[in-house]
Amino acid sequence: MYDVIVVGGGPGGAVAAQRCAQGKLRTLLLERKKLPRDKVCSGMVMGPWARDIIQQEFGTIPPEVLVEPCQLSGHMMHVPGMKSQRIMCNTPLAWRKDLDFWMIQTARKAGVELWEGARVTEVHQEAGVCTTTLMHGKKLRELKSRFVIGADGGASAVRKSLFPLIKVAYSVPIRECYAGALNLEKDYFHWFFPKLRPRPRFALNHKDDCFLIEGSGIKELRDEINHILAKYGFNPHSKPLWRDGCQIPRLHEALISGAFSPAKGNILLIGDAAGLLFPITFEGIGTALKSGILAAGSIARSIKASRAAAEIYLRDLKPVLKIIEGFHSWNKKLELEAAREAGEFSKTLKAAYAQTLKVG
Ligand SMILES: Cc1cc2nc3c(=O)[nH]c(=O)nc-3n(C[C@H](O)[C@H](O)[C@H](O)COP(=O)(O)OP(=O)(O)OC[C@H]3O[C@@H](n4cnc5c(N)ncnc54)[C@H](O)[C@@H]3O)c2cc1C
Repeated sequence: MYDVIVVGGGPGGAVAAQRCAQGKLRTLLLERKKLPRDKVCSGMVMGPWARDIIQQEFGTIPPEVLVEPCQLSGHMMHVPGMKSQRIMCNTPLAWRKDLDFWMIQTARKAGVELWEGARVTEVHQEAGVCTTTLMHGKKLRELKSRFVIGADGGASAVRKSLFPLIKVAYSVPIRECYAGALNLEKDYFHWFFPKLRPRPRFALNHKDDCFLIEGSGIKELRDEINHILAKYGFNPHSKPLWRDGCQIPRLHEALISGAFSPAKGNILLIGDAAGLLFPITFEGIGTALKSGILAAGSIARSIKASRAAAEIYLRDLKPVLKIIEGFHSWNKKLELEAAREAGEFSKTLKAAYAQTLKVG
């Protein structure tokens, strides 16, 4: 019998598990993949939540965890017919496999037990006991705990198990990695809006000796990407070194309206499993860390007060949802400006991204 089982070894799972272990709770972290594992992500430690929580909970990111350039100077927005706009914002940059592995190692030192290659298939709760079913290697196992934290990302098995009736739409971003560099400033993250709308868009950034093109609009924008990036030296016939993709649940409207509340009884969802990525930038490391801390704190208080953890967690999560609601309405504003005029769109775009990067 564990006190807490945390499902998923991303930033949310790592911080939640570490906090629980530091609170003297017997904590098991289950991760589907063998570590270190990569994650489709630009790897920017963006926004105050990500920066401050990482520093406070795990310490200074070691230089070997960061890439070249180790820090971005900011973001650059490219709208056709308009001068490119800069948002200055120092942002540490890493491959997620290295960043997340470092956090997990720190959590293990704090007393977290880790099982790798442990894929959770189902979670349920009855009379204050949670049962987690998983495949560990080739073995089917059932584990008991008082609490479960679902930190298992966008396609969360814990969420599906807890809310089988919720229908979720997904964005499916793709990431392509090419060898070499383009003639674009390497210390900026470049956002392109070829259709003069917030979406579809694509992004480009450099890491070590390669550059990455990513976004959910990549397939749709293939011709535009080739045309736009040719100006910066991209050969449209070049083949990526590799390509991958993932699923992002679109849960903002349901979270804001209350149609979806990411917890029940003693099972709590955090980070992408709860759909907490910020609208606009799709920053999610900070919200995963923030919700991970809230979930661990709710469990500690639930034990003291003999109350369901979900009740405490959902109340503590309200300010996060308020911020998401604010950014969601910026998104709508962007759509409106886009329909009117490129200049206004470009101005609102910069304001919306700057605001999103600052808050949290
Ligand atoms: C293209 C793209 C770029 C992005 N860029 C940024 C960025 O630069 N900065 C930023 O802040 N955010 C970015 N994000 C968002 C960010 O990647 C996520 O919001 C963040 O990783 C969420 O963290 P998490 O801990 O909730 O989940 P994850 O990091 O997704 O971790 C979930 C973990 O759970 C494991 N898992 C899944 N299913 C199971 C299971 N059934 N059993 C056991 N384990 C399981 C997975 O293997 C994984 O290790 C980006 C997202 C995309 C798609």
